[in-house]
Amino acid sequence: MKPIARGPSITVAKRAAIEKIKEVSSRTPGAIRLESGVPDFPTPEHIIEAASKAARGGFTKYTLSAGFLTLRELIADKLARVNKLQVTPDNVTVAAGGANAIAATLIALVDNGDEVLVPDPAWPCYAEQIRCIPGAVLKTYSLAFERGFLPDIAELEERVSDRTKVLIVNSPSNPLGAVFPGDLIRELVEFAQRHDLYLLSDEPYEELVFEGEHVSAATFDSERVVSCFSFSKTYAMTGWRLGYAVAPKEISNAITLTVLPLVSCATSVSQKAGEAALSGPQDCVRIMRDSYRDRRDAAIGVLAKHGVPVCEPKGAFYLWFDISRSGLGSTDFALRLLEEKQVAVRPGDRLSEYPNSYVRVSLATEKGALIEGLERICSLLE
Ligand code: PLP
Repeated sequence: MKPIARGPSITVAKRAAIEKIKEVSSRTPGAIRLESGVPDFPTPEHIIEAASKAARGGFTKYTLSAGFLTLRELIADKLARVNKLQVTPDNVTVAAGGANAIAATLIALVDNGDEVLVPDPAWPCYAEQIRCIPGAVLKTYSLAFERGFLPDIAELEERVSDRTKVLIVNSPSNPLGAVFPGDLIRELVEFAQRHDLYLLSDEPYEELVFEGEHVSAATFDSERVVSCFSFSKTYAMTGWRLGYAVAPKEISNAITLTVLPLVSCATSVSQKAGEAALSGPQDCVRIMRDSYRDRRDAAIGVLAKHGVPVCEPKGAFYLWFDISRSGLGSTDFALRLLEEKQVAVRPGDRLSEYPNSYVRVSLATEKGALIEGLERICSLLE
């Protein structure tokens, strides 16, 4: 038989290690699971209630590909209130999660031979989505520990070329927890302007900022920035698959026309849940954020006690730290940690194009388990 297409997948070895970590940790009694990027809170009750009412009320059919107008109106209000962006519902495309919004944006913007500048380390689906676009070229730029995990404009100037079309920026960052200061975001937008790039600003953790403030890149240039948002992390709604892209009218139309063949539209019931999330009480967001901050502080305390260097995350819900003193690479360390200490973490190799000696620990875990898990990690390091 002819071989199947290579697809976007990471290498077989990386995939096998991650599958093993998931599989072994799920069947090991007492295993502490710190590898997941899923909030450990339930979706707030009023959102579930609204969805259940919507399902009974007949919101069970396809919607417009751009999403319900009522939802896009609420999103436009939220963008004005939270992100200081003045847009109309025509600038918004609702999608099946942030992942779908990002994929549709990349497909709408990137042609054969175009380069996309992607942070490294980063959420691995950027690279995997780019690999799905025929002829698209992935180029990384680094977010190094020495620079507090912030991008370096001089490095970007070296990496950019005439073929570069899109710069992806993610703040607050998965897996680093870095929150880019407003001035840096402005410099990144200016860099995009200098080289005539589109800037894809991925902001699913916008509401999970512990110190400082979240600045949306589109406030500096609404013509070349496409902003992608998600309900997944803000409202603990990962399984509802709801996100959206915000773009100038022409790009927004192209994104909507891309969402159409991919998923037709976001789930109707989830869209109604999203309306309840945006129009309902917001204290649930604050409670979750405060809890992640409290866990962050406790986690940093454990690592500091054991002399593990760490760059304190200012947002999102991850810790990214160096395990090189174990003498192991990230995947070997994660496998050994699971076997000897029954703790699951995400190997840094999975979140980078390059082998490394970092691991990602999720703060979306009950505090006692998080502390115990970190103690076990430190005991293996020692
Ligand atoms: N972007 C980043 C940086 C993420 O970490 C994630 C999910 O973990 C997403 C986008 C996609 O989120 P979703 O598709 O659940 O909205």
